[in-house]
Amino acid sequence: MNDYSGLIKYLEGYGVSVSDDQIRQLDTYYEMMIETNKSLNLTAITEFSDVLVKHYIDSVSIVRDMDMSQELSVIDVGTGAGFPGMVLKIIFPSLNITLFDSLQKRLKFLDEVIRTLDLKNINTCHGRAEEAGHLPGMREQYDLCVSRAVANLQVLSELCLPFVKVGGKFVSYKSDKGSEELASSKHALEVLGGSLVKEDIFTLEDNEMVRNLIIIEKKKECPKTYPRKPGTPSKKPL
Ligand code: SAM
Repeated sequence: MNDYSGLIKYLEGYGVSVSDDQIRQLDTYYEMMIETNKSLNLTAITEFSDVLVKHYIDSVSIVRDMDMSQELSVIDVGTGAGFPGMVLKIIFPSLNITLFDSLQKRLKFLDEVIRTLDLKNINTCHGRAEEAGHLPGMREQYDLCVSRAVANLQVLSELCLPFVKVGGKFVSYKSDKGSEELASSKHALEVLGGSLVKEDIFTLEDNEMVRNLIIIEKKKECPKTYPRKPGTPSKKPL
């Protein structure tokens, strides 16, 4: 088995303890990802030590700002190979998570992981956020929407905020470009009913990797016209 002490120590720093079973689950997930990555493009990062920091620790870094040990309903928009959603589910089993993506093949991989690890209260969902954001079963249904490496914040706000309940949060995992993106998103957030709670800027990997968790609260309902049809949010950002 690989060495997870870096992740265990990181989480301990936030009062989160991880069992041997959870570590085994993360390791099985890692092995399945590497195996599947030979035939399906899941991740460019494959070295274990890199995956541990850039995928696993980065995914759980939201513990800096939020108590994740609650029964929150969470959607991960553009989850890809399951980041951050799958890692959050393994570490915080009380979460009820929807892993959402427009690429069916990646979701098939995640379904296999869910089956193999026997995870409960987690499902995959296929679609475009622009369309799913209008479905009654998904619109304004989640306590928390997370998203990493999907679109710039101006566009992403339109894809993500419609899923969030009024009073819920949208947390965007960004890099050192986050503040710039936030500055361009003021109008989008206003229109969509979002309000900045804070930017949490920090570093991972011996201070090399700048991260910015942008935390937005949904203050009021999104107007019915949003999200606009697939492609429009990126072509004509708000
Ligand atoms: N979040 C993962 C991560 O950080 O490793 C994956 C990032 S990957 C670069 C972007 C993912 O977002 C892809 O799997 C893509 O299919 C999905 N995606 C992009 N636009 C989307 C949309 N409008 N609706 C749903 N999924 C979308």
